Amino acid sequence: MQHHFTTRFEGVSLAPFDSLNLGLHVNDNALHVTKNREILKEKLGVSKLVFMDQVHSDCIVCIETGDEAPTCDAMITNVQGIGLAVMVADCIPILFYDAKHEAIGVAHAGRVGTLLQVGQKTALAMGERFGSRMEELKIWMGPSIHQCCYEVGFEATKGFENFLHVKENNYFLDLQSYNHAAFVALGIKPENMDISDVCTCCDTDYFSYRRDKITGRFAGVIAL
Ligand SMILES: [Zn+2]
Repeated sequence: MQHHFTTRFEGVSLAPFDSLNLGLHVNDNALHVTKNREILKEKLGVSKLVFMDQVHSDCIVCIETGDEAPTCDAMITNVQGIGLAVMVADCIPILFYDAKHEAIGVAHAGRVGTLLQVGQKTALAMGERFGSRMEELKIWMGPSIHQCCYEVGFEATKGFENFLHVKENNYFLDLQSYNHAAFVALGIKPENMDISDVCTCCDTDYFSYRRDKITGRFAGVIAL
């Protein structure tokens, strides 16, 4: 198994997508994005690298050939040599690994996906499909926007009452802690979870929609 979170470097896209933009939906030159995806695939040494058309849903697709291009926000597989990619620019890229049953998954968890429990549903889908046990699952949450920068309007705080930081009537969400708590409630062991402390909005090595609006997407990738 290998897993990796990309940065914005070592690709071919031009500003404001410079340079390893992996998103085809952000109005970058499609040839550049295709080349960037090829660069990442080469680096990983996988035969197929699957990207999703992400729509902030809780739809999960089981990948079997590696030729799928699903519209969904999570994927799982137990096929060797197929890389699963989740694109982000502030949302949490979540990676899953079950060493015992040799299975992997990815999920795209922004505010909406988090409320839909897309991460928890992905873990449960691995249980149903591959026999994964929650206490044996390993989970990584990659670089994403943290509470230092994730200010939202009051209407967007619903459901996050316990993961909210209020500073002078401004509301800041802690998506990472919400997901961590939800995973623990599901039976995932805290010692099996790794949360990146990189805030994408603070760290210019990563694309950030909040910071730059017109920008690229980096990715979390995992492969058996
Ligand atoms: Zn920040």
